[in-house]
Amino acid sequence: MSTLYALEHVTVRYGARTVLSIDHLEIPAGEFLAVVGPSGAGKSTLLRLLCFLERPTTGTVRYDGRTWPDGAPLDVRREVTLVFQRPLLLDGTVEQNVAYGLRLRGEPADERVAATLELLGLSHLARARARTLSGGELQRVALGRALVLRPRVLLLDEPTANLDPHNVALIEEAIVALHREYGTTVVIVTHNLHQARRLAPRTAVLLDGHLVEDGPTDVLLEGRGTDPRTRAFVSGEMVY
Ligand code: ADP
Repeated sequence: MSTLYALEHVTVRYGARTVLSIDHLEIPAGEFLAVVGPSGAGKSTLLRLLCFLERPTTGTVRYDGRTWPDGAPLDVRREVTLVFQRPLLLDGTVEQNVAYGLRLRGEPADERVAATLELLGLSHLARARARTLSGGELQRVALGRALVLRPRVLLLDEPTANLDPHNVALIEEAIVALHREYGTTVVIVTHNLHQARRLAPRTAVLLDGHLVEDGPTDVLLEGRGTDPRTRAFVSGEMVY
């Protein structure tokens, strides 16, 4: 697999505080990577770097062999979609919300929107107003807005936090379907280690802004990680 992202000597600082410090991280095209770690470890900050919402204070984030010190151009930013933990939706119907990105890009919407609603079990709600939906339905609409674009990279920030098993299953199945069908590169931030195991062959562990572990998910979750803090995290001794 070719390298899609290469981070070298990356730091992100807010004032005097360094919240992320990654010497080296490579993400091949088509990878399914989980990022786990306690709250405040820098996981969301990493996602913001990967979707060009934020630039590193020092170091480089290379994408497809290129880097843009003054910000990535629109066509590159459109290849990468981030789904936030708390979805921001338009004040319209489910269908209008899911069609939004395609309309913005001047691409035909109907068939792709219908297929996406179907995939996420939302067809019967197509004409419902988004603000009337339950939390799980809203999160599925937010994911639908991303999936319909068939992005090259899908970044997910705790997409199933606080959802019931039915919604978790629907969301996981839709993400896996996109990954399989289009070879989408997926990076999922999750606090749920079982979810990491279900979805991602590779897991990176962030602690205090540092990448302390990066390897096969099974190895980490069996407590065979190399860093003692990872073992504490996996065994639940570390509060997060
Ligand atoms: P995580 O996603 O692992 O919970 P974050 O990446 O959201 O961690 O945050 C890492 C640290 O950076 C936290 O301590 C957070 O308070 C801090 N932080 C995040 N964004 C900002 C910001 N815009 N200004 C100052 N501090 C921030």
